[in-house]
Amino acid sequence: LFRSDWHWQISNSFLSIDDLSKILKLSSDEKNVIETEANLPIRIAPYYASLISSSNPLDAIRRTVVPTIEELNVSEGEAEDPLSEHQMQKTHCIVHRYPDRVLFLVTDFCSTYCRYCTRSHSVAKRSNHHSSMQQWLEAIEYIKKNKNIRDVLISGGDPLTLPDNKLEFLLAQLRKIEHVEIIRIGTKVPVVLPQRITPELVKMLKKYHPLFLSIHFTHPEEITKETKLACNMLADAGIPMGSQTVLLKGINDNADIYKKLAHELLKIRVKPYYLYQCDPIEGSAHFRTSIEKGLEIMKKLRGFTSGYAIPYYVVDAPGGGGKIPLLPAYYKGKDDDGNVVLKNFEEKLFKYPDYI
Ligand SMILES: *Cc1c(COP(=O)(O)O)cnc(C)c1O
Repeated sequence: LFRSDWHWQISNSFLSIDDLSKILKLSSDEKNVIETEANLPIRIAPYYASLISSSNPLDAIRRTVVPTIEELNVSEGEAEDPLSEHQMQKTHCIVHRYPDRVLFLVTDFCSTYCRYCTRSHSVAKRSNHHSSMQQWLEAIEYIKKNKNIRDVLISGGDPLTLPDNKLEFLLAQLRKIEHVEIIRIGTKVPVVLPQRITPELVKMLKKYHPLFLSIHFTHPEEITKETKLACNMLADAGIPMGSQTVLLKGINDNADIYKKLAHELLKIRVKPYYLYQCDPIEGSAHFRTSIEKGLEIMKKLRGFTSGYAIPYYVVDAPGGGGKIPLLPAYYKGKDDDGNVVLKNFEEKLFKYPDYI
């Protein structure tokens, strides 16, 4: 079916609707995509494509990576760069939003492109995807000069599509900077290309501790034996892992599905970290679900499953406001005696003596 070599996976990826027609029975909405007008090219690694239902166009994983004509409809409130990352760009590769940490975008390449990508304005836009050495050095210089940066989030694109030696170069450079306490890598590789997590890669990564991984998971069906093996290797190397999940209409906007995902993640030692409201990128209306729905899912988690299974539900504020957490209304205000009134997971009211 396919080879478990990651280079083979990348060079044999599906790159067009035509390619996909060989393995999928395409719907008219999929067939009618005008590839030249789409914002984001198609790329799906054979391994990940093997998880897709070939007959059902509404299959959860299929919808996340196979484009449909709906992608070409731009709706009100959508923007090319809704998080205004361009405004916070300090060097070609650095987005500096928060006081003590930066986003270091090291490549614009991913092994598989998600149709709702928050960075669809910048990923896959250049033919030589990885940033140049000069641009990397400029970013490293920026981090060196700004002593308040204690946390560097290497992202892109997907940094784990870089060859081991290039990735190691970046990690080694960052580790040399004394004020950089933790390094994080944002990736979907353990999900879409678990073959990339080789013993050699893991051995290299563990030299640069404390190193964290933020992994983009979407659906419980992604947790296959290959992904389990990859995450187990990473966890055994002492790399703490968190999952970042985008809330997607008809894909995972359901408390039972999210809970199942969270439980499967904990079994492979990945902590559900963020549940993101889908960013209003151009052509994303068919993916976006209401914030009310997101709050309802959160309400069905707290109290009903392990606290470890519960992510922060956040909206990344359009215009560049950063991540804003949302919680169902547990806090009901103060009564006349100064007690704080709280509602628990069973909808019962409790008072906390907050007047001392
Ligand atoms: C998400 C994000 C971070 C990291 O945020 P945490 O809440 O610390 O995980 C840093 N910079 C930017 C620009 C981000 O979007």
